[in-house]
Amino acid sequence: MSLLVIGSVAFDSVETPFGKVEDVLGGSATYFSASASYFTDIKLVAVVGQDFPEKHVRFLKKRGIDVKGLQVTDGKTFRWKGRYDFDLNQAHTLDTQLNVFASFKPRIPEEYKDTPYVFLANIDPVLQLEVLGQVKKPKLVACDTMNFWIERKLKELKEMLGHVDILTINEAEARELSKESNLVKAAKCILSYGPKAVIIKRGEYGALMFSDSSVFSAPAYPLESVFDPTGAGDSFAGGFMGYLSNVDNISDRYIRRAIIFGSVMASFDVEDFSLNRIKNLTNREIETRFRAFKKLTHFEDL
Ligand code: AMP
Repeated sequence: MSLLVIGSVAFDSVETPFGKVEDVLGGSATYFSASASYFTDIKLVAVVGQDFPEKHVRFLKKRGIDVKGLQVTDGKTFRWKGRYDFDLNQAHTLDTQLNVFASFKPRIPEEYKDTPYVFLANIDPVLQLEVLGQVKKPKLVACDTMNFWIERKLKELKEMLGHVDILTINEAEARELSKESNLVKAAKCILSYGPKAVIIKRGEYGALMFSDSSVFSAPAYPLESVFDPTGAGDSFAGGFMGYLSNVDNISDRYIRRAIIFGSVMASFDVEDFSLNRIKNLTNREIETRFRAFKKLTHFEDL
């Protein structure tokens, strides 16, 4: 099955205690697409400016990503600048320049409209809603968001949440959105906005999925070298949605396996800056780490 994504394609400038990069390839849809491309066919909807280099488009194409929905318009590409301190779980946004996204009107190519799996990556909830308005009854719609939109577009965000099946969100942002400090209460509150499941991403502590009928907890892979957490959430979502689209099964069993594939992809992403680690993985590396996750969490019933 194929998978449609809308989200940001960006230039990121990032500083962590272990190094610094400027104007490197980033964006929620970029990380998502690169990660999901190991599992399924991706159709990307986004906008970039005239300053977006051809080499980045070539990279997306090389990963098999369909870029017919990537518009190039006059103006500058979206830019995000962030910093992480020793607590790598918390990103500090220093600057966000929406640039070409400020006036973007997504146009979904005709052949994208009946894509069965849809991911609304982190971007203005108004754009996420516009995309939902143009697709025909997808089998599964999931989305992401962040504090930037919770603080600026709460009404639109809540409206969008009424139309999706799954929300993936950071721990701190789950608290901010629900105004609850307890994560079980936060999840309950978020489920009341409409999604059937919410996956709370907890950085180095893993991920928790809540639905009306089940709770699932996945650890993060214990890594010795973490350089840059940027894109971990989007890489997680890419592995998660990519796997579901690949197996075309959204039962609880498969959702749990998908959360582990998401965690696998996030664990690769944080090992280097930008998309450096996830751009050239092998299926064998992905399988090996999936098996390592199984070992990590396995215990016997006595
Ligand atoms: P994450 O997976 O949560 O680490 O997301 C990191 C990516 O989100 C970066 O590559 C940024 O370019 C992108 N980003 C940051 N702020 C925003 C925003 N307000 N809207 C859309 N994308 C953003």
